[in-house]
Amino acid sequence: MNLPQTLPSSIAPPRVLPPADRLFARRAERLRKLSAGHPMARWMEWLASVSDCQQKMFERAPEVQAEPLTAWRAMYDELCAALDRPAGNEDAALQARVDHCLAFAAGREAGEGRDQTDVMVAAALQVAWARASRQRCAQALPAITHREQCPCCGSAAIGGVVMAGDGRGGLRYLECALCATRWHVVRAHCSLCDSTGEVAYLGLEGTAGEVQAETCAACTGYIKLFFEARAPGIDPVADDLATLVLDVLVGEEGFARGAPNLLLVAGEAV
Ligand SMILES: [Zn+2]
Ligand SMILES: [Zn+2]
Repeated sequence: MNLPQTLPSSIAPPRVLPPADRLFARRAERLRKLSAGHPMARWMEWLASVSDCQQKMFERAPEVQAEPLTAWRAMYDELCAALDRPAGNEDAALQARVDHCLAFAAGREAGEGRDQTDVMVAAALQVAWARASRQRCAQALPAITHREQCPCCGSAAIGGVVMAGDGRGGLRYLECALCATRWHVVRAHCSLCDSTGEVAYLGLEGTAGEVQAETCAACTGYIKLFFEARAPGIDPVADDLATLVLDVLVGEEGFARGAPNLLLVAGEAV
């Protein structure tokens, strides 16, 4: 009997995972769990409320296939109303924040000077883009052309998730900072410059090692890896915010962060 040379594609793990159905609900749960006794507890709890609103908007079926560059605005107004914050911004000023947020997500600009309004804008953009990417993935999974860029929207990754279970155990997927699409990238390669052999891992003492900084001596950059098997429910955005002390340690070693977190404000950055 001749055995097939390769696994049928139905068995091989998918290379691209669309934004998960409960993406923002899961993040809210994780933020609330991590906030207990955390120095940033109030900020994390507020972000959990933001994530709850994001989930409601994400679940609502779009009446038309909205273009995210226009769909975000109604979501921003809804977020402001739900969280009792004034939307009070001129359109031009808001548009400047959108432009900056998209450039930050793409890794083209630093996140300095971001404030709470930027986080609200980013939260609306995340929902608009996650919905657009989910629709896109439902038609056909996009090809991965640049390992450091989201195959759906072209943004940078917030970090890498080392998966547990579902036939994907141990595989690493990067998660898009903007739309939360995940794409497979082999481990032990720097996901910023593709170098091999110069990658090292730094974690925090006194933890299970669920969050590790993957540093690269070739490009002196790093991203964080999040290990599902060590912390079920781990979420790249929430767990990144909860481990900013790791960024301080890795920064002191001379490495520069290569992964934008759109829910981070300048004042909270360690
Ligand atoms: Zn994306
Ligand atoms: Zn590198």
